[in-house]
Amino acid sequence: MSSSSLTVQGLAKRYGDFVALAPTDLVVADGEFLTLLGPSGSGKTTLLSLLAGLVPPDEGIVRIGAQDVTYAPPYERDIGVVFQNYALFPHMTIAENIAFPLKMRKIPEAEAKKRAREALEMVHLPHIAGRYPRELSGGQQQRVALARCMVYKPSIILMDEPLGALDKKLREHMQLEIKHLHRELGTTVVYVTHDQEEAMTMSDRICLMNSGRIEQLGTPADLYFRPRTLFVADFLGESNLLPAVLGPRLGDEAEIRLGSAGIPGRALANGQDLPPGSPVRVMVRPQNLTITRPSDNGAAGVMGRVSDVMVTGSLTKVYMRPLDDALPPLVAAFATRNEAEAIRIDDVLALSWDSRDAVV
Ligand code: ATP
Repeated sequence: MSSSSLTVQGLAKRYGDFVALAPTDLVVADGEFLTLLGPSGSGKTTLLSLLAGLVPPDEGIVRIGAQDVTYAPPYERDIGVVFQNYALFPHMTIAENIAFPLKMRKIPEAEAKKRAREALEMVHLPHIAGRYPRELSGGQQQRVALARCMVYKPSIILMDEPLGALDKKLREHMQLEIKHLHRELGTTVVYVTHDQEEAMTMSDRICLMNSGRIEQLGTPADLYFRPRTLFVADFLGESNLLPAVLGPRLGDEAEIRLGSAGIPGRALANGQDLPPGSPVRVMVRPQNLTITRPSDNGAAGVMGRVSDVMVTGSLTKVYMRPLDDALPPLVAAFATRNEAEAIRIDDVLALSWDSRDAVV
């Protein structure tokens, strides 16, 4: 096993009777960018703190490569940590703060100074090298903490909401910088955020957490287009959830009947072992819906009346109330084209989709 992979087996943490992390298995590959995503209190920081060695687990094992580090102190793990409230040393200048990890590693002073300067340039703060932490805004302190972690190029970096206090523009810039650094150094990164867009853009894989458990682990596309639970479908952005009755299976798809009229269709049914006749919900993302006029030849799907049309620059969203009362309101999204202008409130249209884009 390569030296900068992370393996977690049966790792668990309780606070009194409260289960912050249920027994969890997870492998982060060497060089992978894995994001822990989830709502507040789902156990992301707890898992990260266990990996960093900042809190001891109640049970389970943590390995870096083949080495068991479960009870090793943080400084014996080749891990860089950027936590949201990871304080800088107040009595040191910013340059000294950043050079500190290099000093600890006996890097010659001239080289340490040069690398500290480069790290400050990376986070766009070359002009504050001589200041003290108390003279910096929260966002600036966060960027310094990031520079201090990256300056010694650890083989694993753990980051807990490192961009939380930054404004949108700087946040996007730093997202790119972190990705760039990840690619350049081949560092293994475990990144915590509750922002699903940030997780989607940055990660090789996302580990979505809920109530101290892993809800689903996979690529951003896996979780977005092939969610295994309603929680995943709902957490990762806008979705249409249609009540349906399950029909017979056909390979990895199943027949479905939608709404009170039993509109026939098909959807992916991977990982579902429910018998035919079971009530289920079928998810389709707004951008996977196709709008057709009922007069079009062979138009099939869910008929509905347009309740709203929103053009948000490059994207047009069409909100529709199905004629079948048993179905909830639906939203379709597509790239804005000229024909978007032709769709009017109260138009009756049909929504359809490819069976591979619907998930039971
Ligand atoms: P957030 O996004 O808000 O940081 P999180 O997903 O990182 O949330 P954790 O910080 O891991 O969540 O916390 C998980 C649960 O464990 C929370 O309900 C929290 O209140 C609880 N918890 C964490 N640390 C402690 C502690 N030291 N003592 C008691 N309970 C704790």
